[in-house]
Amino acid sequence: MNVILLGYPGSGKGTQAKVLAQKLGLFHFSTGDIFREEISKKSPLGIETAGYLSSGRLVPDRLVLDLIKSRLATETRGILFDGFPRTVEQAQALDDYFDSRSLAVDRVVFLDLPEQEVVSRLGARRTCEKCGIIYNLLTKAPAKENVCDACGGKLILRQDDQAEVIKKRIMVYRDQTEPLLAYYRGNGIFSEVKADLPPEEITGRILSFFKVGRHG
Ligand code: AMP
Repeated sequence: MNVILLGYPGSGKGTQAKVLAQKLGLFHFSTGDIFREEISKKSPLGIETAGYLSSGRLVPDRLVLDLIKSRLATETRGILFDGFPRTVEQAQALDDYFDSRSLAVDRVVFLDLPEQEVVSRLGARRTCEKCGIIYNLLTKAPAKENVCDACGGKLILRQDDQAEVIKKRIMVYRDQTEPLLAYYRGNGIFSEVKADLPPEEITGRILSFFKVGRHG
């Protein structure tokens, strides 16, 4: 089974993906996490992509698709895509790639967050630099300021969660990613869930899409 999570930055894709991948036995594939890892390693891919991430622009499709194909070639589990596709071209390329391997996208889940919530959420987001757990100072604060409850790591504000970059990411989403809703809607695999609910409730609703006879 291959699943795509769609939604604004900050709509909870990363948080949900971590839980869902475990519950559904899928490989969590976060393109954003991979780029951040490559950037911190200063690998050739990291050096080439750093400027896109820090300014909130999308990495060119060519680089994203090369990455997807090389990482998926050896993966035997179903995939939970978090942050991919982000353009219609990427979605088409994924369909072609899956076709060539007799695979398919089985479900697309759209986390629907009102745009005005995106800014406040991203500005309040803190990420553990060690284990990647995501906190929110407004809704899910750590017990001790700036310290991860799970591993004791330091909590950081991602560079692209700074106010100016957030504005850019919202524009990029509207222009380049939102058209994906039309691409996937209406083909029987599209589901949506309100993203301003408690995280556990969102997880429960998403899981219900995977129970036989409970689509939509
Ligand atoms: P994310 O962690 O998913 O919000 O991604 C962070 C940043 O990584 C984005 O703002 C883009 O610069 C880059 N990125 C992640 N996934 C993609 C993708 N599928 N296509 C292009 N750029 C991406």
